[in-house]
Parts: sequence; structure tokens; C-alpha cells
Amino acid sequence: MPGALTTRRRRVRVRGTVQGVGFRPFVYRHAVALRLAGFVRNDTEGVLIEAQGPEAALAELCRVLRESPPPLARVETVEATTIPTQAAPGGFRIIGSTGAGVPAVPVSVDTATCDACLAEVDDPADRRYGYPFTSCTDCGPRYTIVTAVPYDRPATTMAGFTMCERCRAEYEDPADRRFHAQPNACPACGPTLRLVDPTGAWRAEGPGALDMAVEALTSGLVLALKGIGGYHLAADATDPVAVAELRRRKARDDKPFAVMAASVEHARRLCHLTPAAAALLASARRPIVLAPRRADATVADGVAPGLAELGIFLPYSALHHLLLARAGRPLVMTSGNLSDDPIAHVDGDALARLGPLVDAVVLHDRPIHIRCDDSVVRSTGDRLQVLRRSRGYAPEPMRLPGRARRQVLAVGAELKNTVSVATGTMLVPSHHIGDLEHLGAYRAFLQAAEHLCHLTGVEPDVVAHDLHPEYLSTKYALDSGRDTLAVQHHHAHVASCLVDHGHTGTVLGVAFDGLGLGSDGSLWGGEFLVADLRAFERVGHLAPVGLPGGIAAIREPWRMAVAWARAALGAERAQAVGAALDGRTDQVLAVLEHGDPPETTSAGRLFDAVAAVLGIRLRVTYEGQAAVELEALAAPVAPGDAPLYPVGLATSGGVLVLDPAPLVAAVIEEVARGTPAATVAAGFHRGLGAGVAAAAADLAGARGIDTVALSGGVFQNVRLTAAVEDALAARGVRVLLHRDVPPNDGGISVGQAAIAALAGS
Ligand code: ZN
Ligand code: ZN
Ligand code: FE
Repeated sequence: MPGALTTRRRRVRVRGTVQGVGFRPFVYRHAVALRLAGFVRNDTEGVLIEAQGPEAALAELCRVLRESPPPLARVETVEATTIPTQAAPGGFRIIGSTGAGVPAVPVSVDTATCDACLAEVDDPADRRYGYPFTSCTDCGPRYTIVTAVPYDRPATTMAGFTMCERCRAEYEDPADRRFHAQPNACPACGPTLRLVDPTGAWRAEGPGALDMAVEALTSGLVLALKGIGGYHLAADATDPVAVAELRRRKARDDKPFAVMAASVEHARRLCHLTPAAAALLASARRPIVLAPRRADATVADGVAPGLAELGIFLPYSALHHLLLARAGRPLVMTSGNLSDDPIAHVDGDALARLGPLVDAVVLHDRPIHIRCDDSVVRSTGDRLQVLRRSRGYAPEPMRLPGRARRQVLAVGAELKNTVSVATGTMLVPSHHIGDLEHLGAYRAFLQAAEHLCHLTGVEPDVVAHDLHPEYLSTKYALDSGRDTLAVQHHHAHVASCLVDHGHTGTVLGVAFDGLGLGSDGSLWGGEFLVADLRAFERVGHLAPVGLPGGIAAIREPWRMAVAWARAALGAERAQAVGAALDGRTDQVLAVLEHGDPPETTSAGRLFDAVAAVLGIRLRVTYEGQAAVELEALAAPVAPGDAPLYPVGLATSGGVLVLDPAPLVAAVIEEVARGTPAATVAAGFHRGLGAGVAAAAADLAGARGIDTVALSGGVFQNVRLTAAVEDALAARGVRVLLHRDVPPNDGGISVGQAAIAALAGS
């Protein structure tokens, strides 16, 4: 190659997730091996390299940066410019961070303990033998311990730990696996494990604390356990008494618990795992994976009552590995909170809130800066769908389909809240924050919004929010003193699905969920929208029905059964249906007849109604419970064997109305006839799926649209989704389903951010 030996100097700018992932030592090792002079450093735009040497060596360095960066890095761009050579360039060195300018690069995600670290933890001859906080450049906490950028030890919650000589030597040796590993620590200088009683009194520390924790768990006690992003409540998953006790103390009636298994092999004894699910389970992200439960799974029935799936995950810290290996059985590991409060992550608060619920608390002295719940991913067939995008995913950026015209903070919905920022071509969703109706969650929301803006250097030009004026996130936006943009809830749902696919065209979006405020002031939730990332038009919806009793109608599905029975078969039959479910049917009917209740087109409420008619769920204790149980009920019936119940399709005022009344009537008649509940549940799913597909195909076809996007929490229902998808595919329509962005309200901020960032473009 001519000129390959000519000496040049290049300035190389690397953008993406390149801090806190071992990027500088990686560059150092390659530069030294290629005999290049110069330096590498972190700055607020990413990593900056200046390298001087033969043309061929410089080209090789850039190739490595692009094609085989370190495992945790996500390189977006590598830009090299030639600059004047220096007369005495010296060797290659790593230089300290500069904090000036605008931060634009989020730190990396929290990453599960790597194999090299685990080998040390298991090696009696190693100085980190049995040490619960072992980590290195390739693994360990990141997002949850970072307090500022650039990412460096003083800007983490490890700032208070002074490295011992041996740790410092590793940290400073470019050839070492722990070179510039910010959480680097050992038993001599790092965090210490402690076990305290529920009042906070010291019981044991170090290896003694681990012994006591294992002893407690294997004798049926309940522990609070400080992890990476917060506290868990832990108990023996195979012990029905321990699990029941955990439910009682946590005041959690039915919502399933996640189970941690020691390895993929152990997880296979609990669930049926596809190769993709097994790989995800063992990946560095370590989410909770929802997978079909095995009939012979040895976990107590109280872990996931009434459900066909189990949420399982693998150890992601050295502490988890030690506990699971020693306990020799799967452990329930559920968020450390009472009922639906936010997960505890600060020690004093954790003791106050969790102490009364547990027999002992296992904690340590490394602070958690940002609370981060476990992520949840569903595995069905060969498909994976993120339902909660949090630890191991946040703050990984997604690509904005287009360039942001302004910097955006999007503040999300009220339930399952997340926030997102958009800048340049990047959209960064936060971790899961929770239900803002809880004061603690609202505080976490404020902290998350500020922290995410800080990490990404976003100074919002506009704050995007939901149309609903009563959401605390909306109030925050309106009080922010910045420009605001109200985004309709279901438009945000559909937009979030488009972001997930990088889709910039127009789609027919089907947004089915619980409730969201519509542009006409009514309560939407079964919507057909012609939409893109800029605008939408409501072209169809489910037939509206009264919502008797407001909030009570959400908590008590039997009320929706009365409302839908009345819509389908009249008040007299509704009276008979309701009387079998609850003694207050007459009051509900009176409200529907004369009380002028608000109307809703909600698909979620339709599922509630059918679950109640079938007698499986008259009151819910968590969002979506009736729908989840209705789907589980249908499981024994193959989709093709289900009866096909009819729906009504009509057009009124140019808008298509999908009327579930015939479907509900069929369900009521079938129940009266004594048809098995599983068959009826399957028939409902099949009928609704066929109706949705027919409506979507008609609406799309009439407008020359070839793509349908399915969004909203109702499309977490695998059976319904498959019914719609199969019917649309048979008509040659392309279907977009959620993958990396949650279809539920956890994705709302993503859709809001994209719409606000691209508005006017
Ligand atoms: Zn490691
Ligand atoms: Zn040390
Ligand atoms: Fe929603």
C-alpha cells in the first residue's frame, strides 16, 4: 500500500457508550501494540484519541475501534481527521478526564459479574475468594453508582473507598483487567457485607454475614437484601410457608414473584426455555425472563398464582452467586417494598420500610445513587419482548428515527412511569420509575429526570407530557417554566412502537390499553389511529360503554361485566348476569341508566368484563390482572380449536366502530349453556383478534397503508397479539410489534420524546 509507512497524526473522535466500559485501556493496549504515540482520554463527547505513527497502523487502530470494540461498548461513530505531526511524540498514554463542555454520552449499563471475576470469587487461593463485591472493567455496577459525568471514580459512590496498594496497582496497570475499573475493590479496601436485625442492630459482617443469610433463607425466614439497583425481599421459593409469609408481610395478594435460579441449568428445571430465552437469561443484562412454567417446577404455588408463566432470572452480582450457590435452591427475589411503593435503595429508608417486613437485613456500605428495578422480558416462541426496561438496559440510548430539532425531556405517563430525553439522533429512556401516585415514586421521578438530563447534557427546549391534566408528570411539565408539548396517550403508544422499529412512515396504529385521555376529552383505550411520528388521526375505536363508579370500575371488573352485559343484551339480562357476581348490581345498573357515567372505549375494561362474566376475577389487586388470568384460562385450548365469536363492524361519521357487544353476548350465552370456561376464554380472544385484524386491514387498505403497529398494554397478551398478527399477515399486511420498548405505559415517554423531537420537521 503506497504511503503505508508515512508517519501521520490523527485525531480520532469516538461517540457512543464508550465511558466506563474499559475503552481507554483497550485503546491503550492496541496503540502500544501498534507502536503508536499519542494519548486517549474521556471527555464530555465520548473518547478522544490522538495517535501518531505509520499510516497502516493508524488505519488498523480505527478498524479495531469500529469492528471489535470492548464488549460493553456501543460505538456509534468513529471520525478521524489528520492533524500536524509532532516532532517528539513520546509514547502512548491515558490522560485524565476533562469536565468542561456539554456532556453528551451516557455511562454504560449495570452489568452482570463476568466469568473471570466469578472464577476469582470461587478460587480459595485468590485474594477475592468469597468477596461479594468483586468486579472489573468488563462487569459490575455502572449507572446505579454514577453521580456525575465524566465517569471516573470520584464521580461514583465508590468515591469514599480508598483503594489498597494491590487494588491501586491493578487500577493503574494498563495490562490489567481492572485498569481504570471504577468499582474496583477487594476485601481489604472495598465495601463490606453486613447482616443486621430488623431494628438495624449489628449481627455479623463479611463471610459471617453470608453464612447467617444462607442459614436464615434455608430455614424459611424472609430477608431484605441490598443489591445493585435497590433492595430485594428474599425467601426460599420452594417453601410454601415462607412464600405465603412473604406475601402476607409485603401485603401483596396475587402479583407474581420473580425467582432467581443459580444457573441456566437450574432455570430449565423451572421453565421451558427457547435458545433465545436461555441466551438472554445468561446475558450481561440479566433481566427477569417470563417463560412458560414447567408442570414439575419445584416452586411453591404461591409464587405465581393462577399463571402459566414464571419470571426467572440468574444471579447478577457476586453476592447473588454466593447466596444461590450456598442456598442450593431457587430463591424468590422480589422488589424490596411494601405493596406498590417504590423499591427501597437507601439504607436508612430501607431499614425503616423493610425492617418490619423481614427477619434480617443484608446490606453493605456502597451507596446506590440511582434506584433501578430489575428489567422484565417475555419469551414466547422465538420472540422476546421487553415489558420493563430498567437495570441492564438503562441508560442505553436508542436511535431516534431522524434528527432532533430541539432537546427534549419527555415525562411519561402516571403508571409504570419512565422519562426519556432526546438530543441529536439519540433517544435515551430512563429506568423504570413506577406509579407516580406514590409520593416516593414522584421523588424518584424528579431525581431521574434531573439525573438523565445531567448525564446526557440535555437542557430541555421542550418538555413533552401526556394530555391528562391530573398526571403528576403533566403537572411537573406545566410547572417547569419551559415550553411544553401535550402528546395524546395513544399516539405516544404508537410512536413508541415506531421508534422501536426505526419506522418513519405512516402506519395504522392499534393502541389498546386500560385508559388514556383522548383528544376529545373522553377516556380512550381501544383506538385505531392513522399515525406517524408527527401527527395522528383517530379513524376507528371500540364501541364506548359506561364506566360505572369511575375508579371503582377499574378495581372491580364485575362492574364492567354489568356494563357490557347491558350493552349487549339489555338491562334485564345484565341484572341476571350481575346478580350472580355481586349484590350491588342494581346500584350499578341505576348508575348506567340514569347516572350519566363517563364512557370509555377501553379494551382493558372489556377484558375485565369478560373475566368477571366467566367468574374468574371480580376484583383485581394489580393492573392487568383480569386480562392476564383470562389469557391463562384459555391456555389449554389451541387457538385454531377455539370457537369464533362475532363482533360488530360499522362506520359512523367516517369513523369505524368495532362493537364487542355480539362477542360479549356470545360469552354470556356460552357460560349459561355450560360451555367450559377455557373454551369461552379462547373464543373471546379469537373473536376479538379477528375483529381487530379485519378493522385494521380495512382501515389501512382504504388509505393505502401497508403497515399496522400494535401497541398498548393489552398487546402484552400473547394470544390476542398472535390472533391479530396471523390474520393480518394472511392478508399481506406488515405488522410491527414491540421488541425493545415496552408496549405498556413504560414506553409512553419514548413516544412522547420522539414526537416532540421531530415536531415541525
Ligand atoms: Zn469482571
Ligand atoms: Zn483492595
Ligand atoms: Fe396506556
